[in-house]
Amino acid sequence: MKLIIAIDGHASCGKSTLAKALAKTLHYVYLDTGAMYRAATLYFLENGIDYNDPRAVEEALKNMEMHFERVDDQNHLFLNGRDVEHPIRDLRVSEHVSQVAAIPAVRRAMVALQQAMGRRRGLVADGRDIGTVVFPDAEVKIFLTADLDVRTSRRHLELAAKGIDADWDDIRRNLQARDLLDSTREDSPLKVAPDAVVIDNTLLSEEEQLEKALALVRAAQERLARQTPS
Ligand code: C5P
Repeated sequence: MKLIIAIDGHASCGKSTLAKALAKTLHYVYLDTGAMYRAATLYFLENGIDYNDPRAVEEALKNMEMHFERVDDQNHLFLNGRDVEHPIRDLRVSEHVSQVAAIPAVRRAMVALQQAMGRRRGLVADGRDIGTVVFPDAEVKIFLTADLDVRTSRRHLELAAKGIDADWDDIRRNLQARDLLDSTREDSPLKVAPDAVVIDNTLLSEEEQLEKALALVRAAQERLARQTPS
């Protein structure tokens, strides 16, 4: 039976790395919900739209079409037909995304799209409200976290690998600010779902995290098999 796996957690703590590895191992679809909030933010910034104006936001949401496509064996987000996978990772987008993601109309639109993508199950989704709001019935829920300095260094390295020379302190400030906004907003704040398993990966390798997650998947599958009459 195909499951839904929800991975929530703090900024830049390796959620997408774990989600991609799980999706690859299980032959599931990977859904990067953060990319969708980033694409909405890019749309507001590029079109000079004030996201604090509710009417402008409603109008803009009608004009955004988002979907994922496989490019070089990776899922890329397309916004109105354009591959925006790279521009949505810019620090400028990171600096606005948590304000945009706090807008209820934006969340309603994104959550509806995400739930439609989960209808066929066999999905690993990562974000901030996956286990609490988007897929509250997900069979496996993981809340990932790690030490802030370690997360900053990982992000710094990741950007450097892409040829982006960002300042370490700027990155650290951004991660901290986003975590604060994401966990204190009124609509769907980042929090640990009551049935989520918390994994602190500060001292864990990617393989060790994948092992832990796969053990949770196997336990969920066994639980379901016991519940399903043969
Ligand atoms: O996952 P990523 O760091 O790319 O997400 C960018 C931002 O999008 C987060 O800091 C958060 O503000 C927002 N987000 C959200 N809910 C999600 C996924 C992301 O609010 N499910």
